Amino acid sequence: MVFTLAPLPYAYEALEPHIDTETMHIHHDKHHQAYVDNVNKAIAGTAHENKTIEELVANAGSISPAVRNNGGGHWNHTFFWDSLQNNNGAKPTGKLAEAIDAAFGSFDVFKEKFNAAGTTRFGSGWAWLIIQDGKLAVSSTPNQDNPLMDVAEVKGTPILGCDVWEHAYYLKYQNKRPAYLEAFWNVVNWHKVAERFEKG
Ligand code: MN
Repeated sequence: MVFTLAPLPYAYEALEPHIDTETMHIHHDKHHQAYVDNVNKAIAGTAHENKTIEELVANAGSISPAVRNNGGGHWNHTFFWDSLQNNNGAKPTGKLAEAIDAAFGSFDVFKEKFNAAGTTRFGSGWAWLIIQDGKLAVSSTPNQDNPLMDVAEVKGTPILGCDVWEHAYYLKYQNKRPAYLEAFWNVVNWHKVAERFEKG
């Protein structure tokens, strides 16, 4: 399979002022494109070239580092773009809100745990909200790993992820990763997260 980069599901400026237009251009058109190009190169002519991105990610530990890093990068960024929308301060509702309260005590405690997962991830990586054994949990992964990978320390089904690589925020927030994580809550598409939660 030759992977391709889908256009963003909204305009580059749609997440302003929380995530700036220039960052979205570079992040999607350059960084995500590079993951797509490099995973295609890494699987060309190998036994893995007809696998789906989900199959590659699930077996990341037994393929090559190039597939793990770039295949992970492709899966993670596709998931990330789909997770975002300028939400005008909305919070989760319904069953998702109940599950967050049940797992963490409150939405605010969940946010603190997620932000801590993002800020304490040393170097580059991701913070995640995952379903694990039917319950919600927060985790983080290094580099372009994700909780679906066989190599993940904490495994589960991701329903929300935040890219904490410097390329995701440096133009606007420079070294202030916590400020970026705070702004992130304004662009979470809770409808999408709820849909993923209900699918399980
Ligand atoms: Mn990124």
